[in-house]
Amino acid sequence: MSHSAPNCTPLVLTHGGVGARPKDRDGCVAASQAGLHCLLDAGDSLQAALQAAVQAVSVLEDDPRFNAGTGSVLRMDGVTIEMDAAVMDSLGKLGAVAGVRRVRHPVQVAAGVAATPHWLLCGEGALRFARASGSADYDPATLQANIKHQELLAQLQRGKRLRHGEENASFTDHWNYPVALAIKPGAPCDTVGAVVRDAYGNFAVAASTGGCTPSLLGRVGDTPIIGAGFYAGPAGAVAVTGIGEHIVRHLLAFRVHEWLAGGMPLDAALQRGLDLFDPAIDVGLIAVNARDSGVCSNREMPSAAAQGPGAP
Ligand code: ASP
Repeated sequence: MSHSAPNCTPLVLTHGGVGARPKDRDGCVAASQAGLHCLLDAGDSLQAALQAAVQAVSVLEDDPRFNAGTGSVLRMDGVTIEMDAAVMDSLGKLGAVAGVRRVRHPVQVAAGVAATPHWLLCGEGALRFARASGSADYDPATLQANIKHQELLAQLQRGKRLRHGEENASFTDHWNYPVALAIKPGAPCDTVGAVVRDAYGNFAVAASTGGCTPSLLGRVGDTPIIGAGFYAGPAGAVAVTGIGEHIVRHLLAFRVHEWLAGGMPLDAALQRGLDLFDPAIDVGLIAVNARDSGVCSNREMPSAAAQGPGAP
């Protein structure tokens, strides 16, 4: 397989999660620039867009201000971190991990899965795969994640509803951690993501998250689920953030891609996707197609784009 002539402006667009702080946007700027360097360095490689998306998300995973990789939220036991990540490009590469623990860059493990006969590995299998492919043991917990966890427990104790539309008892009554609940748990979510367009009109997406809290042990949201949290195809690439349990019901990323494929303007497709949701549900999207890129969310969401030289 080879490229046709370059006819697009290379672009990397990243987000730091719906509900994340706008003042942390510099992290997205750094990630988009790192992704763009990778994209331009890769020249006309068929892997360029995917590598750039992985590079951008790896930078966000290393930034402890975002809920992915280092800085991921703690589960309700105050100890466990379970992370999800995914990659996909418009040339057919697809890989994801769910519930993976103790790795520094879940998105790189997801990219590794794309080279296996499978598309999704979870739990212990994902961890063993990560180790076999060279990911060292790594504790992504941070002091800040511990502080957020204490706040969550304090809110639980005060009877404050932790997740829109759910009684707190939905979590405590179905408790499935190996240790008892030590009351202390906000409701932090957030995911990081990148969408990429190369000069040849290929698209890629990568996403990574520490998930939502509160949640039961083993909970997986939309981030590693194809068509829900991410999608890349001939019409573009889409990355989604927000409450996964709602997003999966709309297969949001795939629907937006299909609207783009049908010729809908990118901004209109993003807004139509957002309009599927009750405004009380946090949702954010980023997307890129051959000509445009855009960001749409119903809460604040840091994002940044980095663009290469225009097509000849
Ligand atoms: N979508 C992620 C999840 O449900 C969280 C987020 O994007 O904020 O796990």
